Amino acid sequence: MKIAVIGGGYAGMAAAVALADRGIAVSVFESARQLGGRARGVAYHDTLLDNGQHLLLGCYRQTLRMIEKVGGNPEEDFLRLTLQLDLHGEFSLIAPRLPAPFHLLVALLRAKGLTMSARLSAVRFMLILRRMNFRLPDDMTVAEMLAQHGQGEDLAMKLWEPLCIAALNTPVHKASAQVLLNVLRDALNKSRADSDMLLPRISLTELFPQRAADYVEQHGGIMHIGCGVEALRPLEDCIEITTVLGTEKFSQVICATPPVVAAKLLRPLAALAETVTQIECLEHQPIYTVYMQYPAHVALPQPMLGLHQRYSQWLFDKGRIAGQHGLLAAVISAEGIHQELSQEKLAQHVIAELREEFGIAEQPQWYKVIAEKRATFCCSPNLQRPPQRTPLPRLLLAGDYTAGDYPATLEGAVMSGLECADAVVMQPGKNSRTG
Ligand SMILES: Cc1cc2nc3c(=O)[nH]c(=O)nc-3n(C[C@H](O)[C@H](O)[C@H](O)COP(=O)(O)OP(=O)(O)OC[C@H]3O[C@@H](n4cnc5c(N)ncnc54)[C@H](O)[C@@H]3O)c2cc1C
Repeated sequence: MKIAVIGGGYAGMAAAVALADRGIAVSVFESARQLGGRARGVAYHDTLLDNGQHLLLGCYRQTLRMIEKVGGNPEEDFLRLTLQLDLHGEFSLIAPRLPAPFHLLVALLRAKGLTMSARLSAVRFMLILRRMNFRLPDDMTVAEMLAQHGQGEDLAMKLWEPLCIAALNTPVHKASAQVLLNVLRDALNKSRADSDMLLPRISLTELFPQRAADYVEQHGGIMHIGCGVEALRPLEDCIEITTVLGTEKFSQVICATPPVVAAKLLRPLAALAETVTQIECLEHQPIYTVYMQYPAHVALPQPMLGLHQRYSQWLFDKGRIAGQHGLLAAVISAEGIHQELSQEKLAQHVIAELREEFGIAEQPQWYKVIAEKRATFCCSPNLQRPPQRTPLPRLLLAGDYTAGDYPATLEGAVMSGLECADAVVMQPGKNSRTG
């Protein structure tokens, strides 16, 4: 077997590691000069940033397992925080050291910034969700679900909306309630550590994709960096791919590019017309990150905290997280009025918010806005996502947008890559993950 993986993001590198691990010859083709895709390190002014601040959850088991497999150590690579949501001065919730789900129920009961009746209605809602096994008979928007379960406006705005946007990168009136429940089921319901919030201390490229590339090469695989795939041609007993290096034949190909590129590569293949239509129907949502380098003594009260009804949704103190003192990041997820502003205006708003909320009087030495316009797919109800197996048995699809329980996340991407690696080594039709 000779397998090609197209794309060196988390999905492609998870597939490549899983194949290399089984002694299968794998060649990875990555068009950029750097690995990581939508989760990559970015060098700016001698400082290592990421293309966006990422947060992982303790329940991202496959991602954490893969990081360990390639030599990482989650206890060192992340700052681990117990579940806490703090909207500066407006709302705060912190999970006590109790077994799940009591940690959450007690956290909700003790939450600050909500009336007792709102707290009780949040607890009742969680108990109902547990009884329903976090499964809805029919999918709907998160806004509809919240209304059906009497989650009043204040509770929705302070708790559920920030959670939904952070988890699904989709506003509540467009977001799939079922996908949100899938995340809540895995994060809140099993063990307390599943709801821990993990903030990377090293760049997203170093965290997994670069280590994965070293692992693949040590296991006999080949990494082609800066070498994009231009075309795919299925032949009788192989697939031929074209790059600047020429053409090469592979017994199977895993296409792990972002959805827009996948649609472009697959469009000429008549057998995949339906798959291409599914991919083209996906809408996208942006994520903006504003990095600001302040003098080293400037810090936030906590490594991560949110703001209520401001441009900055979540703020991260990279000094507290990764020893990058004075470096702050403001994250603005999903669509919104911030998209109408120039990057300079947006940064000025964020800087003003930091001054008003925390009394940070200094101006940053520099700021950098990273706008990822197609950060994730828009996770709407009943979305038809293309499966990893395509009508062409030699061609598989990996990526956060492919079929799965999760929204566009590192865990969704990694799981799709592992699914493809399983499919490569298995008889068609069998599925080792679901038995
Ligand atoms: C700003 C931002 C913040 C985010 N925050 C979080 C978060 O907090 N938690 C979380 O879990 N997820 C988060 N995500 C989502 C997460 O980053 C993605 O779900 C994940 O990185 C997707 O991985 P992927 O491998 O599916 O795709 P990608 O990362 O897009 O990888 C695809 C790769 O294919 C390469 N490629 C493209 N065309 C070609 C070609 N022709 N030939 C070869 N290679 C090609 C690309 O360069 C890229 O490296 C965030 C995303 C963004 C953008």
